[in-house]
Amino acid sequence: AAVRAEALKVDGVTVRFGGVTALADVSFEIEPGTVHALIGPNGAGKSTCINVLGGAYRVAAGTVRYGDRTLTGLRADQIAGLGVARTFQNISLSLDATVADNLLTGRHRLMRSGVLGGALGLPRARREDREHRARAERVAELLGLTALLGRSVHTLSYGDRKRVELGRALCAEPTLLLLDEPVAGMNPAESAEMAATIAEVRRELGISILLVEHDMPFVMGLAERVTVLDFGRRIADGTPAEVQRDPEVLRAYLGS
Ligand code: ADP
Ligand code: MG
Repeated sequence: AAVRAEALKVDGVTVRFGGVTALADVSFEIEPGTVHALIGPNGAGKSTCINVLGGAYRVAAGTVRYGDRTLTGLRADQIAGLGVARTFQNISLSLDATVADNLLTGRHRLMRSGVLGGALGLPRARREDREHRARAERVAELLGLTALLGRSVHTLSYGDRKRVELGRALCAEPTLLLLDEPVAGMNPAESAEMAATIAEVRRELGISILLVEHDMPFVMGLAERVTVLDFGRRIADGTPAEVQRDPEVLRAYLGS
């Protein structure tokens, strides 16, 4: 099925937890098919923003639109159904299951025949099952995971687990991919490999990617545009070159 990325418009979003304002009137826009970075020091509100986009958190004010659909107010599964997939800052894989089975859980939203149809061996269910496995294999190939498909996740290195987490999100065939700190905790070699993988995903699939990162240098070679948060406020938005020399951005990073 042909997928087409749409523009994501975040407009005046505010999120509060009791007395804490995690996001204060934040706006930015992701152009279809681009890599957009959301950066900022710890506690800036980056994960909160992903949680809003994915439907896990409610907003106190503001709207999020994806193409002509309004995402604010929708449940997480409804947003996933519109082609938005995410990864988590802390890996959320089934450690005892194989890489292949973890990738297949990313197909859930696309499984029409359901578990019962599969168990009964209905022809349509069998055909769909082959489709799901073929997609998982293609994603594994794209991410360099083919040799690991039969391995249990608990036997993998941390870097490989992060790739499986990315692969599971890609198995849902998203048009917008939300990545929460994909290189957190990685060594420099793993981190460079992940950067190449993200660039490859964008080139091969033409989808939009929101890349949330604490690490400023990592996003600079990857993103067309960068939005910078600090204490829940947007303090800068522009090209990597623009935000890198923004005095308020430098202050936020040096002061943290
Ligand atoms: P970042 O991902 O940029 O490090 P977060 O979005 O995780 O920042 O956090 C922003 C602020 O919101 C922090 O002060 C954090 O403690 C608070 N926060 C985030 N999620 C919750 C929650 N579920 N309950 C209460 N406070 C939260
Ligand atoms: Mg975070």
